[in-house]
Amino acid sequence: MRWRERSGVRWLEGGFEGARVCFTTRTGGVSEGPYSSLNLGILTGDEPAAVRENRHLAADAIGIDPRRVAMGRQVHGADLAFHQGHDVPRHFARPGRPPEEVDGQLTDRPGIGLLVLVADCFPVALFGDGGLAMLHCGWRGLAAGIIGRAAARINAGSAVIGPGIGPCCFEVGPEVLRAFAPLGPGIGRGRMCDLPEVIRRSLAAAGVDHIESAGICTSCGPDDFFSHRRDRGVTGRQAGIAWIE
Ligand SMILES: [Zn+2]
Repeated sequence: MRWRERSGVRWLEGGFEGARVCFTTRTGGVSEGPYSSLNLGILTGDEPAAVRENRHLAADAIGIDPRRVAMGRQVHGADLAFHQGHDVPRHFARPGRPPEEVDGQLTDRPGIGLLVLVADCFPVALFGDGGLAMLHCGWRGLAAGIIGRAAARINAGSAVIGPGIGPCCFEVGPEVLRAFAPLGPGIGRGRMCDLPEVIRRSLAAAGVDHIESAGICTSCGPDDFFSHRRDRGVTGRQAGIAWIE
């Protein structure tokens, strides 16, 4: 994974042969205060006009048509949307009517951007014979099996894990660690939960054997990333965006 920058927009890029995977930072937008500056989430206290402008700035910088970016209303579940046509709903470029309630976007067609919004949860991209996926992975969606479902749908063989809250900062209640007991020991240390390890084990269990990870904690990186927990809910959203070339 490497850092990239264009027109002031800064992002991390990983990827697969034949697909691009980008993780935006908070750098390069027009929002102010706690949303400074590249906030891509409309369901925040930020100015909607600023978010719309940020979405176009981010898409232009990384090189995807904002009208061809699919996103969902994320509900911490394991439901997936599979895009096989070119009629991607324009919720990203023109927010208005709420999008479908799903936490994973998938496609097997080139040029369709798959986007999830995050601010501590992990954006995870999967790639396989059957296409590409971008998943919103918080503890509830992981416990509900979103990785296994998406991996099976596209016969995934590789994955890229973006920035999210690390075991240094993710203090949880016992119900969270209980949910991951089937994955074996080592997920929890005291009250701290290691979500990246949950993701790695879920990927391995799903047969994904090539895994690249940013290894970055959003809560520890206030200059680069929004963090819901660190900023006590008043914060913006960065994105994971992937597409088949
Ligand atoms: Zn941390």
